[in-house]
Amino acid sequence: MRISKKVCLLGDFAVGKTSLVRRFVYDMFDDKYLSTLGVKVSRKVVNLEIGGDSIEMTMMLWDLNGSMGFDRVRDSYLRGAAGAVLVCDLTRPETLSSLRPYAEHLFAISPGARLVMAANKNDLTELRELAPEQVQAAAADLDAPYYLTSAKTGERVNEMFSILGRLLLDRER
Ligand code: GDP
Ligand code: MG
Repeated sequence: MRISKKVCLLGDFAVGKTSLVRRFVYDMFDDKYLSTLGVKVSRKVVNLEIGGDSIEMTMMLWDLNGSMGFDRVRDSYLRGAAGAVLVCDLTRPETLSSLRPYAEHLFAISPGARLVMAANKNDLTELRELAPEQVQAAAADLDAPYYLTSAKTGERVNEMFSILGRLLLDRER
């Protein structure tokens, strides 16, 4: 069976949304700041097994221009989203507190969307300003599975997207 799902990347400026998509889709990382104009949609096919059936899911990953914050996330960006990756930056605590408004805006436009949380830049251990417990509490509050990811090293990136894929399948059934 083949299905296609829209997934939005949500989170503050420079948390690593574009870098996570780039790692997942192209298995690449770029230290230069990647500025994207408007919305970029990337496609990645993931194969999922469920109850002995194999399902080919095309994830359409919607990534908004880095400089657009919460107030700039337009309804049309969120419309039709089956799921979202909420991204925060472990070196900037304020990026964790801003995830709830993103989630609420998403649910207002696309009720029933599924979430996964990526606490990104886990490679920057010296600069970390968020304890794992804080991340865990925020994720529990959002009722979302969470991963400590690094788009730079690739740590937990595939797992994070695969779990979201599974959640999107559950939603379908
Ligand atoms: P966006 O605005 O959320 O799309 O963020 P970007 O993906 O453009 O990343 C912002 C900056 O953080 C860039 O300089 C990236 O190279 C850097 N960056 C993104 N993810 C990571 C990561 O996991 N580790 C490190 N060390 N830097 C990262
Ligand atoms: Mg970006």
